[in-house]
Amino acid sequence: MRIFGELSQLIFPVRCFGCNRLGLSICSQCRSDWQPQYFLSHFANLRVHSAVLYSPTASKIILAAKENGLKEADKLIIEAIQGVLAQANFANRTIELIPIPSSPSARRRRGRSFMVDITAQIAQRSGFRLTDVLELTRRVSDQSGLHAKARAANMEGAFALKPHAYPRGDLVLIDDVVTTGATLREAARALTSQGLNVLASVTACLAQPLR
Ligand SMILES: [Zn+2]
Repeated sequence: MRIFGELSQLIFPVRCFGCNRLGLSICSQCRSDWQPQYFLSHFANLRVHSAVLYSPTASKIILAAKENGLKEADKLIIEAIQGVLAQANFANRTIELIPIPSSPSARRRRGRSFMVDITAQIAQRSGFRLTDVLELTRRVSDQSGLHAKARAANMEGAFALKPHAYPRGDLVLIDDVVTTGATLREAARALTSQGLNVLASVTACLAQPLR
């Protein structure tokens, strides 16, 4: 198998998914750019706990996981979110993790609902419950090119609680990146409008919005 591994390296050279450099699937420079820390931000009345400040490297790591399904990139995101969950002081609460769902077209393209799959792996490792109860009710645009106001309008009323879904504990929303909080606030609205308690949100990355 080792010979095969070395042979496949010759045929399919490995590149860093952060900077595209030849060698390892993530080089030491990119690995050190992705240092999980702990940030707490407030978006209206929603508390968001995050691990990594968004950077060009962080965006490539997220893309490698999301669009290319690279397991090692998944792992960085999972560990970042787990670290934040451990530091956010949710002890003595019955936490249920609620992933932000992907659109049906993204799900088809990627072969999985990205945050649902990531959150399932976090739940398995951390013992917190995963409750996949949110669904998109309509088409939304990609948020990345939008300013704060357009993001809020894009997401308004876009999420709903799935039929026959009854989450019971303190709900913690899980997403990859928070920028203006538009997606998370809409998800929280969909849940609290049904009388549910959204305790907080946890994201891998915290990004600066466009000006
Ligand atoms: Zn690199």
